[in-house]
Amino acid sequence: MQSQKPEFDLFESEENIIRNVSSTLKNEGLDALEARRLLEGLLREYEKLLRASRQLIKISDRKAKELNLAKHRLQELSETLEYQATHDALTAVLNKGAITRIAKEQLALCDFVIVLFDIDHFKKVNDTYGHAAGDAVLGLVAGLVEKNIKRKDHIGRFGGEEFMILLNDTPPEVCLEIAENLRSIIEKAVLEVDEFELGVTVSMGLSYCRQGESFKEVYARVDKLLYEAKRRGRNRIESSIKMNYPS
Ligand code: GH3
Ligand code: MG
Ligand code: MG
Repeated sequence: MQSQKPEFDLFESEENIIRNVSSTLKNEGLDALEARRLLEGLLREYEKLLRASRQLIKISDRKAKELNLAKHRLQELSETLEYQATHDALTAVLNKGAITRIAKEQLALCDFVIVLFDIDHFKKVNDTYGHAAGDAVLGLVAGLVEKNIKRKDHIGRFGGEEFMILLNDTPPEVCLEIAENLRSIIEKAVLEVDEFELGVTVSMGLSYCRQGESFKEVYARVDKLLYEAKRRGRNRIESSIKMNYPS
């Protein structure tokens, strides 16, 4: 493509002055008045350029600040979106997609312990205190667990009133003690919801996961154990790890 001459030359007036001054200076008979007139013209142009440069610097500073602010806002927005995509809006713990992804990633790398728990007779909570109170209970129970596990562990809401915990870098027997402690904390907690004080219990399935197993087989195993805990009377843990567990 042929390059075109720009319609508007930013420095046209300055170049005219320079041309003018150069050609006048070539005139050997230049008198003092003429020289003074030229100098005054140059001074005016110089002042004009200085003003324009100052303004340009101001604008570019402002634009740089605006760009920085926009970058900062974009970063915040992307963090918010990332949080919303991975967390459950009601309970603020990880959502099903996120906890499943973490479990799958861990299964590829190491052994760990998985716990699946479900609130007992939760339908009764809704029926007695209302659905909104039920929502609050979900948040409180999830919060209790989150507060009582380590940073390296994870909790996610897997379904309505069903949660999954991943316990990492911890001997299986200790994991069973941790789960038992969580069950007991929930059983003893007085949950304050509106004007009510209520309590709930949970049933848990707990299983050891071996590196290389599929999430599907691990989930099927722990779900079966949870079902067994329900069948055996609720408010208890069924585990694939054997130890002196009080019956
Ligand atoms: P079980 O001890 O066998 O687990 O009995 P359950 O009543 O807890 O179990 P069931 O599956 O019969 O009922 C679960 C109830 O959980 C029914 C459903 O309305 C309620 N639920 C599921 N998700 C939510 C939610 O997000 N908020 C509220 N408030 N209730 C929910
Ligand atoms: Mg339930
Ligand atoms: Mg359930």
